[in-house]
Amino acid sequence: MRAVVYHGAGDVRVEDVADPTICDPNDVIVRTITTSMCGSDLYLFNGEVDHMVAPGRTTLGHEICAEVVEVGSNVGRFRVGDRVTFPYSVSCGRCATCRMGQTAHCETSGKAIYGFGVAFGDLGGSHAEYVRVPLADGHLEHVPEGIDDESALFLSCNLPGAMIAVDSADIRPTDTVAVIGAGPTGQLALQLARSRTGRTILALDRVPDRLATARRLGAQPVDVEHDDVAAIVAEATEGRGVDKVIEFAGRGAAFNQAVAITRPGGVICGGGVHLEQDFGVSLFDLYFKNLQLRLNGFANAATAMWEAGRLITTGVIAPRSVVSHRVTLDEVPTAAKAFAAREDGFNKMVIRP
Ligand SMILES: [Zn+2]
Ligand SMILES: [Zn+2]
Repeated sequence: MRAVVYHGAGDVRVEDVADPTICDPNDVIVRTITTSMCGSDLYLFNGEVDHMVAPGRTTLGHEICAEVVEVGSNVGRFRVGDRVTFPYSVSCGRCATCRMGQTAHCETSGKAIYGFGVAFGDLGGSHAEYVRVPLADGHLEHVPEGIDDESALFLSCNLPGAMIAVDSADIRPTDTVAVIGAGPTGQLALQLARSRTGRTILALDRVPDRLATARRLGAQPVDVEHDDVAAIVAEATEGRGVDKVIEFAGRGAAFNQAVAITRPGGVICGGGVHLEQDFGVSLFDLYFKNLQLRLNGFANAATAMWEAGRLITTGVIAPRSVVSHRVTLDEVPTAAKAFAAREDGFNKMVIRP
């Protein structure tokens, strides 16, 4: 089959690789109908986590809408031809940690993530024609009728991630809110947050078209490079700071910005994927502002997929609105560079093998 293989920083290539096969009776093999690129894929693409991947072998991608083509003998919930999706991480649904709702930390899969290198289970990614799904009964899901193929992509990662962060923020009707990082997941979170508060929602980013999108979604855009962030926050919050801050940028600087703009006793929800090994956050500031941290960088997407599907089928959220580009597998090496550079209005890239 053809798959996008990582070779080094900024260097992915479409190559012929071995077809995945049933290795365990709990496996399912799926044919990718459509897939997409996530902001977290950029850590791999940019070569920032080479210690976690196998250049020349690692394939990327963890967001998918697919068709079942082969079913292991121990799998009960799926048949050939079923239209399915999976959460970005593999979970068995049976171990104690899964039953606590911490599906991203499944003891059986060992925190395996599709297309995220050797450190996370060494599984094939979705930027490929076929994918092996281990422990399929535990986390593979049927795509409900009424959800089109592209919308189904958002069940894997972005929409559950947005929901989990917004839920953990516990936004009250009079809360001011800030979303740091107005990419696809941030934009979905802005929509969810808008339905929960009548107050100002600030959207912090540095990419002009993302800020424009945030404005369309009812948020007040804040350009972190050119605006006086502290002054804008003070004006929007009667000088106190933001009640609920949701951070999706996944960078130390963004997290520190969250600490700086949250009011005393306020809440910071960390929904971003932080793969930097070390970044300076002042515990002094956290303690002496009585800040509450609610961290979901390793979001338990499986637990939010059913409700995410309801958000789409009922029309509350139209996730395709964040799609900016549609490319073929062959175009991924070029398109990924543009996505990484945020060129050409790149927001969410959908891939058809
Ligand atoms: Zn993702
Ligand atoms: Zn488990």
